[in-house]
Order: sequence, then structure tokens, then C-alpha cells
Amino acid sequence: MACHDVIIAGAGAAGLCLGLALIRGPLRGASILIVDHAAKDRDDRTFAFWEPADAPADPLVSREWSQLQVIGDGFDHLAPLRTHRYRMIRAIDLYRAARAELGACPGVELRRAEVGAIVDGGHAASAEIDGERVEGRFIFDSRMSADRLPRTRRRVLLAQRFVGWEVEAPAPVFRPEVATLFDFRGSERARGEFFYVLPLSERRALVERVEIGTPALGDAEGRLADRLARYHGVDAPVLLRREAGESPLTDHRFRRRLGQRVMAIGIAGGRLKPSSGYAFARIRADAAAIAGSLARLGHPFGVPRESPRYRLLDAVLLQVMRRRPELLPDVFRDMFSGSPGDRVLAFLDEETPFEERLALFRGLPKGPFAAAFGRLVLTRLGLAPAA
Ligand SMILES: Cc1cc2nc3c(=O)[nH]c(=O)nc-3n(C[C@H](O)[C@H](O)[C@H](O)COP(=O)(O)OP(=O)(O)OC[C@H]3O[C@@H](n4cnc5c(N)ncnc54)[C@H](O)[C@@H]3O)c2cc1C
Repeated sequence: MACHDVIIAGAGAAGLCLGLALIRGPLRGASILIVDHAAKDRDDRTFAFWEPADAPADPLVSREWSQLQVIGDGFDHLAPLRTHRYRMIRAIDLYRAARAELGACPGVELRRAEVGAIVDGGHAASAEIDGERVEGRFIFDSRMSADRLPRTRRRVLLAQRFVGWEVEAPAPVFRPEVATLFDFRGSERARGEFFYVLPLSERRALVERVEIGTPALGDAEGRLADRLARYHGVDAPVLLRREAGESPLTDHRFRRRLGQRVMAIGIAGGRLKPSSGYAFARIRADAAAIAGSLARLGHPFGVPRESPRYRLLDAVLLQVMRRRPELLPDVFRDMFSGSPGDRVLAFLDEETPFEERLALFRGLPKGPFAAAFGRLVLTRLGLAPAA
């Protein structure tokens, strides 16, 4: 049986970013097999993220913003960014560029096939690929499955569902310099609903409806059409592209190490930050950390551990989202109006010193957060269910 140095199951964001980090680093020239059952030839999502304004230029970034807006009924807060930029990469640009670079690298094979069971081993693991067993010294698995999610009532699991339309308006109605992270105007607060607008020009924008909670989606498309008409004055938009998805927001601890030779990556490896719903920047940082670990230690598991303090803060915020979704407008209004936008972004990136973190939390509604903390303690002790 042929043995590859690395097999990557899934050529989505995590699989491709890891493949790139490996060939740009310690495994250039190694035998790397990357397998996905999908063609990955559609612009099926937009990766928005923030990073320091002076981060090395990335040709994949198609737009950036230096002002963020949080708006709701009775408030409109604009947060100028000084040290950070909010940026976006179209999925199709990442898929194409990564596949071209990986495909041109000796030793790399991109295969369209179904990955089945992965079996760990002492010197190598093996994956069933289109029914055939293939060995790899290390296997990275980005396939998401139900068994990665919590099986205990001691953890919160919320579905963040979103539907986005990239539209062209007949007239200039969008503000290209401002990315709207949260628009709570007229939203169904009990459903944890908000809208998100990434303007691409005065006439073009990605407008997304997001809902956080356990019940099934309402009429998302109807809500989007209504929103465009009511708040942007666009009655007949041209629909250029549609994207949709569902992300698990949970305080469950995802296992990274699935065996001696198998590691989970991407959302399946817990890279989605539960309190923000963002994963892309964490996926890229993780790919770099795995490549670094392989170079330093000869194995991929030497990646940074997660901060227990931030895990706790995420878990408290999840409790608030679960029990009091109607408070989300107040929480994000207070967070952004109480601190500079750069500091909020650094906090969500888990990069603020402890005192600044406390300052951020100090401005938030105290009663519900204290109740959420109490509930969290009871839940973890098994004295109350999370859901
Ligand atoms: C519509 C949408 C918009 C998003 N926007 C943002 C955003 O703006 N910012 C942000 O930070 N995050 C965003 N996310 C969240 C996250 O960044 C993405 O979901 C990201 O693609 C996760 O990367 P991943 O590699 O973990 O999963 P995926 O990109 O989904 O990759 C997993 C891959 O595994 C393949 N696969 C699954 N099972 C098998 C199998 N049995 N055999 C072979 N292949 C298999 C799939 O085809 C897929 O290509 C968004 C998600 C969605 C769905």
C-alpha cells in the first residue's frame, strides 16, 4: 500500500490553507494527497475576517473596510478602525489560487473522491478513499460530522444559520466605505436575528440574514427581500449570487488529536469561535501553527492551547445567546460603543490583556451576564441542562 507523508480529508478552507502552509514550509516536495468529494468550483461563500492593517499584502483580498457599523432601533454606532482592517476573500478565489499552487507543486495530488473511515495506527494512519485504503504518515480531517458535536446536556449547542444575497441595486444606495457587522433594525429579536452588509460598491453588496438559535429558519429569503426594500430602498435587486450555511456555536471542547497520527482541522477541529461565528482567520493561523509544529517537533500536535479564560467568556456569551437572544442588540451596541473598534476585534481574537477584557465586559448588561454565569456553573455541575 502506498504511504503518503500527509493525507488531507476535505479541500475546503482548512484543507487548502493547511496544504499551502505545508508546501510553503516544511513539507515542500513531500507526498501530499488532498481529497474532496466536491468539485469546489463555485463561489459558495465569502470569507470575511480582520487582521492588523499592516499585515502582508494578500492578492486574494478583494475588498477591505476601515469603518464598522452596529445599528439598531434607536442607535447607530460607527467604529473607525485604526490598527485593524476588515477584509474579505471570495471562496472561489481561494479555491482556484490554492489548487493552482498546490497542483503545480511536485508531490501534491488533488483528488476528487469520497473519504470514508479513517483508522489510526502507530507509524501511519489509513483512510478509505473511494473504497480503497490509503496510508498517510499523518492524516488531517476537516469533515464535519455529528459525532464531533456535544453529546451531553452540559454544553450549549446553537445553530447559527445564514442566507446571503449578493445583489446589484438599480441606483447607488450602499456606503462602500462602511461594513455593517450588525443591523438589528426591525429584527426578530427573540430569534437572535440580525442582518450583515458588506458593500462592494455603491450599487453592489452582500446582504446576509443571520439567525442564532435552535428552532428552524423562518422565511429567510422573504426577510432579505423585505430588508432590501425597507432599509435600502431596493425593490427589485438583481440577484448575482446566493450563499447559505449553518455553523455550530458551542462551548463543547472539540478534540484536535483523533489518534497518534490523525488530527482534526477546520470547524471540525473547533476553529470556529463560538461567540463570534468567525473561523477563517483562526483556520489560517492554525495551518501555520501545524506547519510550525511539524518543522519543530516532527509531528503536528504542538499547536497553541486555547485560553481557559476566553473559553469561559465564550461560554457565558453563548448562555446569553441561548437564554436571552433579545439582548443581542444591547450587548453588541454596548460592546462597540464602550470601546474602540480595534479593541473589540482584538478581544474577539483573544489578544487583549485581561484588564481590557474586563473593561469590555464591565459595560455590558450585568444582570443577564451574572445569570448566564450562574446557569453555566449549574450546567457544568450537571444540575441544569444547557439547552
Ligand atoms: C456561506 C458561509 C459563509 C461563511 N462566511 C464566513 C466569514 O465571512 N468569515 C469566517 O470567518 N467564517 C465564515 N464561514 C465559516 C467558515 O469559515 C467556513 O465554513 C469554512 O469554509 C470552514 O472551513 P472548513 O475547511 O472547516 O470546512 P469546509 O470549507 O466546509 O471544508 C470541508 C470540506 O470537506 C469536504 N468533505 C466533507 N465530507 C467529505 C467526504 N466524506 N469526503 C470527501 N470530502 C468531504 C467538503 O466537500 C468540504 O469541501 C462561513 C461559512 C459558510 C457556510
